[in-house]
Amino acid sequence: MKLPWAEPFKIKMVETIQQSTAEERAKWIEDADFNLFNLKSEQVYIDLLTDSGTGAMSDKQWAEIMTGDESYAGSRSFEKLKSTIQDITGFKYVLPTHQGRAAENVLFSALIKEEMVVPGNSHFDTTKGHIEFRKARAIDCTIEEAFDIENPHPFKGNIDLNKLEEVYKTYPKEKIPFCLITVTCNTSGGQPVSMENIKAVRKLSNKYDIPVYFDAARYAENAWFIKQREESCKSMSIPEIVKEMFSYGDGMTMSSKKDGLVNIGGFVALNNEEVFTVASNFTIIFEGFITYGGMAGRDMAALAQGLRESSNEQYLECRVGQVEYLGNKLMEFGIPIQKPIGGHAIFVDAKKFLPNVPKEEYIAQTLGIELYKEAGVRGVEIGTLLADRDPDTRENRYPKLELLRLAIPRRTYTNNHMDYIAVALKNVYDRRDEITSGYNIKWEAPIMRHFTVKLEKS
Ligand SMILES: *Cc1c(COP(=O)(O)O)cnc(C)c1O
Repeated sequence: MKLPWAEPFKIKMVETIQQSTAEERAKWIEDADFNLFNLKSEQVYIDLLTDSGTGAMSDKQWAEIMTGDESYAGSRSFEKLKSTIQDITGFKYVLPTHQGRAAENVLFSALIKEEMVVPGNSHFDTTKGHIEFRKARAIDCTIEEAFDIENPHPFKGNIDLNKLEEVYKTYPKEKIPFCLITVTCNTSGGQPVSMENIKAVRKLSNKYDIPVYFDAARYAENAWFIKQREESCKSMSIPEIVKEMFSYGDGMTMSSKKDGLVNIGGFVALNNEEVFTVASNFTIIFEGFITYGGMAGRDMAALAQGLRESSNEQYLECRVGQVEYLGNKLMEFGIPIQKPIGGHAIFVDAKKFLPNVPKEEYIAQTLGIELYKEAGVRGVEIGTLLADRDPDTRENRYPKLELLRLAIPRRTYTNNHMDYIAVALKNVYDRRDEITSGYNIKWEAPIMRHFTVKLEKS
């Protein structure tokens, strides 16, 4: 019999998590204005709000914390981080930042001006926020297959080359600072981008003289999928795949809270010296001196170690395998989820799950609230609240998909927790016919409203 995969680690420290009653949860979510972001962590039993900065560090990372060098300039820990990033990505210059959106702020300040357009595959919310904040526009060029939740396409994060070329033909090159490839594509379901597609985007962009940057938060998970699903890359190691992926880019922004396996941090890495010089100034203004950029020395040291660990094949098999384990359980219960199962999260198709809730009443948010009330499990809406309003018309943008994302933190929960989550969602599914209304907005912020929105029952 083939041995199953199992965790390539054992547990050295545990943290208690608290169960609660349905009555307590009903009150807590109402006090939180039906916004899952407003719940206190003690009010949550299993927290699948995000896989960002919520994972467990290894003993080797904790050891790095103790050896961190806190020098303001020229820190040894920065040198360690820089050489690790150069080694893994092949990019020449490195600017640390306090997290991924700060990396976006630094890089975009150097590259994006008013009225520019940034084509890419379903830009992440903070990415889109940083583009629109500069009065520029993000243009989604993801392949159509990505919007069909049942389509088993192995690389639903791919960029549609025709859509991309249309952008390149419509706008002069001065208006297109770069094309942005997000790996894996978070917004469209943690779906990977193929090596072939990355290569083709590079080739097309070369033809129009447009740089290519990566939003690389989950590059290691993307590499794992490439190795599993792309014939020509089967015999390559994960570090080789990662190196080749990045070889088609001019640079990257990174949220280290994902595949950096740390709780906070980010960086920009790139090849162009001029861009580096300009971005360095923005790092100093927004983040800190260029050899720490908003990070403690010890955190840079732990990140260097985390970046090496996340390219470990056994780690990735277990990481992606656990997400798949939960997805398979849900499918056994007949619950509609996005297929193929993504790398860091399960995306529940809320429109199919709750067909009686009108789209104006925030279907995926309604499902998230029901799951929380059922079992103290917290997911997050990837739907109309997140899609926000059109910056020109201020109308709600109704995305093609209304999803409830269940993001699995790295090295944190066991498969027993996955079983619990699956049953919780099944119980909601069994009473789905009784759920016929959702929520209205009481108050919202002008940008990135989903974090702070206040809701009331419709
Ligand atoms: C998390 C994330 C970001 C933003 O990073 P933060 O560390 O949360 O600021 C940007 N892009 C993608 C794809 C992400 O997943």
